[in-house]
Amino acid sequence: MIQPLPQSLTSNFAPEMFSQDPGDLDHYGRDWTRTYAPHPRAVAFPRSTADVSKLLKICSELKIPVVPSGGRTGLSGGAVAPNGELVLSLTRMNKIGKIDLLSLTVPVEAGAVTEAVHHAAAEYEMTWPVDFGSKGSSTVGGNISTNAGGINVIKYGMTRHWVLGLTVVLMSGEVLQLNGPLEKNNAGLDLKHLFIGSEGTLGVVTEAILKLTPIETNTRLFFFGVKNHDKVFELLETCRKQKFELHAFEAFSANCFEATTALHKINDPFSAKHAQYVLVEIRNQDCDSWMEQIFGEEIVDEGVEASSQEDAKRFWKTRETISESLSVRGHLHTSDISVAIPDMKAFLQEWEEIFHKKYSAWELFIFGHYGDGNLHIHALKPANMSAEEFLEQNHAVEKDLYSLVGKFNGSVSAEHGVGIIKKADIGYTRKPGEVAILKSLKKMLDPQGLLNPGKVVDL
Ligand SMILES: Cc1cc2nc3c(=O)[nH]c(=O)nc-3n(C[C@H](O)[C@H](O)[C@H](O)COP(=O)(O)OP(=O)(O)OC[C@H]3O[C@@H](n4cnc5c(N)ncnc54)[C@H](O)[C@@H]3O)c2cc1C
Repeated sequence: MIQPLPQSLTSNFAPEMFSQDPGDLDHYGRDWTRTYAPHPRAVAFPRSTADVSKLLKICSELKIPVVPSGGRTGLSGGAVAPNGELVLSLTRMNKIGKIDLLSLTVPVEAGAVTEAVHHAAAEYEMTWPVDFGSKGSSTVGGNISTNAGGINVIKYGMTRHWVLGLTVVLMSGEVLQLNGPLEKNNAGLDLKHLFIGSEGTLGVVTEAILKLTPIETNTRLFFFGVKNHDKVFELLETCRKQKFELHAFEAFSANCFEATTALHKINDPFSAKHAQYVLVEIRNQDCDSWMEQIFGEEIVDEGVEASSQEDAKRFWKTRETISESLSVRGHLHTSDISVAIPDMKAFLQEWEEIFHKKYSAWELFIFGHYGDGNLHIHALKPANMSAEEFLEQNHAVEKDLYSLVGKFNGSVSAEHGVGIIKKADIGYTRKPGEVAILKSLKKMLDPQGLLNPGKVVDL
């Protein structure tokens, strides 16, 4: 039974502002995680910052909890509405403004799709370098609110590096214009950074001024097959010692490669099978001596270079579709952890030992942004285990994995955020003093706890 919205809310807006259609409630009430059953009370579709401000002010007065929602590609349950909340979908606020070629910026509304921003910027041979597999559905507001990473973090850094100004609406309805188009502004703390990565718990991002950079076309992409993890790290070390500029260093195990090439019918560019695969993108600079070294010292066993755009797309597809290729195989335990780059090798050795000893029937898949210290460690349910037992066992895996992450002073969430899924595990990464500050900020900006309740930290 769906509870109708109070007239004191609906009477302030045109009828198309709200939907309680069961299909919409199901669609907008969940994100990519699919772990939590959606149960929102309604969905609101504002068209302007003024709409959002009015809506939040009234919801504050009526004590209606609100879940900000973008493209719902999030992987931590941050945009899920499981408890009768009002989903605030930014999808109708998707305008992309005029690109300014003097400051290399573009104003956008938060609901603009990431890839649409890429297309708009590409007309001027520019890009917003926030790039990953879900860019065709994710939104700028979601990218900012998760401080998204992706495949080009080595070269460009995380999303926060590419945001100049933000318009944010607090739960009270107050509108904050933070920094605007200023490149330099040291008049106190840069408050926009408080909202970048706050997963919709402190304010709703409605507009942003994004920084752009010329599209990098002058690159070379190599795909290598190597013997083991040690060789992956040796290869990374050789890249770091070269004079060329490294843009991306992504690696994945053979079973990830097999899953993605089989599902997407991607031609295997190698003549033999390898234990690990590595994609290395560099600026187009001389790398003959590097080639001699990595083949001469048998750091790599086989390598191919993309000789066309099609090759490059095909190579990247093997990496970018790993998540979805694994998710169709059955129940999967997923993770998104990071450790300091020099610690990765020891961390992985320890984890593989623990995993094979305690969970020998499970299949382990390891892939990720190795050049950033960011690993996605997934495990598939054994065929003879019930889904219930698997879910139960997931807690044990998490305890083991995150304890090891804690031991290495790493993070339980490298780029996907905390949402609901990692809330109980935040203590493996953040000290009690840090969690106390996060809670104080939440209390200050949303004293009634109505904005994205139950996400990141509990009050
Ligand atoms: C196949 C696949 C590959 C992915 N690869 C990567 C990757 O490489 N790197 C990476 O970082 N992520 C990756 N992701 C995760 C996801 O795409 C990112 O987290 C993305 O930034 C989420 O954007 P969204 O618009 O879908 O946000 P949503 O999922 O809608 O929301 C995410 C969070 O932001 C909040 N939010 C959304 N919009 C706003 C707003 N306007 N104001 C305030 N809060 C808001 C929500 O409440 C929620 O907490 C991947 C996901 C998939 C499915």
